[in-house]
Amino acid sequence: MPTGSNVLREASSVTASLSMNSPEQYMEVALAEARLAAERGEVPIGAVLVGSGGEIIARDGNRTIELCDPGAHAEMLVLRQAGRLRGNYRLPDTTLYVTLEPCVMCAGALVHARVSRLVYGAVDPKAGGVVSLFQVGQDTRLNHLLAVEGGLLAAESGTLLKDFFRERRTGAGEGKR
Ligand SMILES: [Zn+2]
Repeated sequence: MPTGSNVLREASSVTASLSMNSPEQYMEVALAEARLAAERGEVPIGAVLVGSGGEIIARDGNRTIELCDPGAHAEMLVLRQAGRLRGNYRLPDTTLYVTLEPCVMCAGALVHARVSRLVYGAVDPKAGGVVSLFQVGQDTRLNHLLAVEGGLLAAESGTLLKDFFRERRTGAGEGKR
């Protein structure tokens, strides 16, 4: 499987034909996207959308700074890529793997897209929208419910985030916000 920043733009098409099967493997792909995000100076969060046959439909990491877009969270970018690839904004029978518990925006987008299942890594007690602060995918007032599982490779995800913010505080990175 290709790694390295030079394959980033082609990542979704390159990996479209690859099939894996364990949740840990998909989360490792999401973690790889999170590491690439950190290299770009973005908060290290990565996401992968997987189809019912186990195929990776789309993968990406945070790009809010690069795109000057508050909506450019990893989950949003993956949903947009997948929607374009499938020619449909609805993405039923898919599972989204993301390294950190989604915020309310992303949780809302998962509901809009009719994603079936969400698997996240670390919890986000400050901004989490599916378990911590709100339970967007599990609110029966909304017309779609999301199966939610958390804690997969949470330590790896948490360490990436902690290291990133520690480096920024100590001035190793060029803080932009
Ligand atoms: Zn988000």
